[in-house]
Amino acid sequence: MAFLPPFPFVARLQTARTRCSKVVPFLAALLWIIPTAAVSHEDIAKAAATAAEAPQVDKLTESLLSAAAQYRGASRAHRGGLAEALVAAAASRARVLAALMESDPGAVLDAALTAAVRAEMPAFLGQHLEQAENLAGALTILHEDRGGGESRFHYLLESPRGRYSLHFAGDPPEHLRTGARVRVAGVRLGQMLAVGAHEAAFQEVGGAAPASTLGARRTIVVLVNFADAPTLQPYTAAAAQSVLFGTTSSFFLENSYQQTWLTGDIVGWFTIALPSTVCDYATLATQARAAATAAGVDLTSYAHQVFAFPQNACGWWGLSTVGGNPSQSWINGDFELGVLAHELGHGLGLWHAHALDCGTTTIVGSSCATNEYGDIVDMMGGSESAHYNAFQKERLGWLGTGAAPPLTTVVADGTYAIDAYEPTGTGPKALKILKSTDSSTGKRTWYYVESRQATGFDSFLADPRTGAQNVTSGVLVHTGSEASGNSRFLLDMTPATPVYYYWYDPALAAGQTFIDPDTGVTIAPSSVTATGAAVTVRVAAASTSPVAVSVSTDQPSYTRGQSASITARVTSGGSPVANAAVKFTIIKASGSVVTAKATTTGSGMAVYKLRLKPQDPVGLYAVDASTTTNGKSAKGAATFTVR
Ligand SMILES: [Zn+2]
Repeated sequence: MAFLPPFPFVARLQTARTRCSKVVPFLAALLWIIPTAAVSHEDIAKAAATAAEAPQVDKLTESLLSAAAQYRGASRAHRGGLAEALVAAAASRARVLAALMESDPGAVLDAALTAAVRAEMPAFLGQHLEQAENLAGALTILHEDRGGGESRFHYLLESPRGRYSLHFAGDPPEHLRTGARVRVAGVRLGQMLAVGAHEAAFQEVGGAAPASTLGARRTIVVLVNFADAPTLQPYTAAAAQSVLFGTTSSFFLENSYQQTWLTGDIVGWFTIALPSTVCDYATLATQARAAATAAGVDLTSYAHQVFAFPQNACGWWGLSTVGGNPSQSWINGDFELGVLAHELGHGLGLWHAHALDCGTTTIVGSSCATNEYGDIVDMMGGSESAHYNAFQKERLGWLGTGAAPPLTTVVADGTYAIDAYEPTGTGPKALKILKSTDSSTGKRTWYYVESRQATGFDSFLADPRTGAQNVTSGVLVHTGSEASGNSRFLLDMTPATPVYYYWYDPALAAGQTFIDPDTGVTIAPSSVTATGAAVTVRVAAASTSPVAVSVSTDQPSYTRGQSASITARVTSGGSPVANAAVKFTIIKASGSVVTAKATTTGSGMAVYKLRLKPQDPVGLYAVDASTTTNGKSAKGAATFTVR
């Protein structure tokens, strides 16, 4: 039973969804991060518009090489005119590469000039040409989203030589936090760096100094307005004080079971030199910090810095680092709990709360879509009030450790009691049930089970118009992995009911049973009351036969233009496994990555054919194939050469 919510609610959720950033992040980010790049801001805008024409990069490289050959072959007297054409060719190519950095960094790695060719280029082209680099520094992770509910995280490297944006050809590192010390090898253009998927391309050399998530969190809010509207103060410092150190601090106290709260100061309003017509959050922060320091504020005594300002040209409501010491958050316009508790959640190291949509008949599986903010019962998802879920609270040290209420890790079949999630208490607040273990990393994925009631900051659950139609009469089930902070998903326990962007009836009702078809894990709440729930659990069948994947190619080496046929064979205890989903990851010699999926046949074989394009790099290609079947993961690897 799900109904389409009344319109005002939809509108409100749409607002929530765009809380982080929208519409202009591509330009906003680049305007900040490449102030000294070879390509101008206008060039970036043009490049963004032509990103769809990425394949032209090969032609542009040919034009560049041909213009360079002409230049080198010309007499000194004729070189003047040729130099102009050469610069134009290099600049056109740089514009396309700059756009590709955003959309397809692997293509930048593929297109990069070799060291020998690069060395032959005239020095005056330097700013227009890419360069292989090895850089070390501190990582900053910012999150943005691109509208339509799509979100992405933005990685910056602060090195002694400057600030660079990192663009990953493979999966970005979601296990790190702002402040981690890293070493990066890649291809640099201006202040942008394309990073390959080789293990050597991105290495953590030191974790972020752990910022505390407990006790009084010292927070400074710097209120600033803009040079073109210096008298605009949409709310008072006293109002901000009440929202942050009153309401939002209470949210943290209740969520943390009285372990974490906010203290600190609100300063301003200060008028900064920046106008409201540009979206440049780095300059905004720099000028806000300078204004506060000039007014006698010691910024070093705060763990969280918040910059709040009247609505400006940025399309988002809030923006934040993920972790960081201090963390930094930007609040654009309305200063409310819904944005503050979300952005400060990022500041404490949290990522978004997603939902997993596996269709109308399936709840979990390997072919599901992710809704970035789809967890409508989590402040890091689509809600503007709800408690953080148990995976998040465990990460923050608010559950299952020290003086915090316990989590029950279920290792044997049985019936387990959990207390209602919101109030303080000494009983268990959630169940944690093993779903699978990655055989190559040992990292585990868990089910989390919570019993939520309409109390405190979860009071909105009493009103079905706010979307929570069955939450208080059942239990919520999430998955979360130890491998990544960005890995938690709300599951839809009523997949057959209609979905209208979000689903509003995610809970597993008392009397219903969920069975994981891959592992046999069974979750069945037998009673749900205002004070808690009883849940019968069957854990995964004990592993009897290990799963193995072997990978082979039909030839040891190929020439460009050929197709490489890659076969993965999945076995369990030596017998072939049919219908296993296999993920192929091919890392080209340049470090760029191709991924593909295939399903095993009755003989346990899954095949992927990689067509080698004329512009593909030569050298050693690495393939791995991974699968999770019967709750067990396995991986195999092979290499081949392209000449
Ligand atoms: Zn966010």
